[in-house]
Amino acid sequence: ASAFVAIVGRPNVGKSTLLNRILGQKISITSSKPQTTRHRILGIETEGDRQIVYVDTPGLHKDEKRAINRLMNRAASSSLSGVEVILFVVEAGKWSSDDDMVLAKLKKMSSPVILVVNKIDQFKDKTELLPYLQKLSEKHTFAEIIPLSAETGAQVEALRTLVHSHA
Ligand code: GDP
Ligand code: MG
Repeated sequence: ASAFVAIVGRPNVGKSTLLNRILGQKISITSSKPQTTRHRILGIETEGDRQIVYVDTPGLHKDEKRAINRLMNRAASSSLSGVEVILFVVEAGKWSSDDDMVLAKLKKMSSPVILVVNKIDQFKDKTELLPYLQKLSEKHTFAEIIPLSAETGAQVEALRTLVHSHA
């Protein structure tokens, strides 16, 4: 059995770094080439007879200059409907209008959304994160909210456990 997990978020929030951390040695396939018209497969985690397939979903990107991207954007909700979990990656303390744009699209989708608040290593005093996390929790009913650092690996194992529990 395989489950699809979409990783979304504006550029530079740390999606690629996070995926590398999650997969670590568990990686079996990676490719940056389009595998299907619906998903770009980024990596596959295999545990026994289970596969967690991490995908980049077309239609959630700001760059929609190309007609094909606009078409994909219109199809985004249907392509995400087959996804078990969405990981919405943001940067701690740096919410932007691009994040609003991604969230607006996610709100139309039925899959549970795990909010990943990345780069918490940039906060020496972790209590400074609390008001920010509070504000984020008011933006949407997220399935989970997890602050972590893809770079140091802090809390990444906890995220993997959450993904498995929802996938
Ligand atoms: P993507 O565009 O969302 O895939 O982001 P990348 O994974 O390419 O990361 C963008 C930048 O953020 C790179 O310079 C990373 O080294 C940095 N970065 C990613 N994760 C973290 C983190 O947890 N902490 C810090 N301080 N920087 C990070
Ligand atoms: Mg990337």
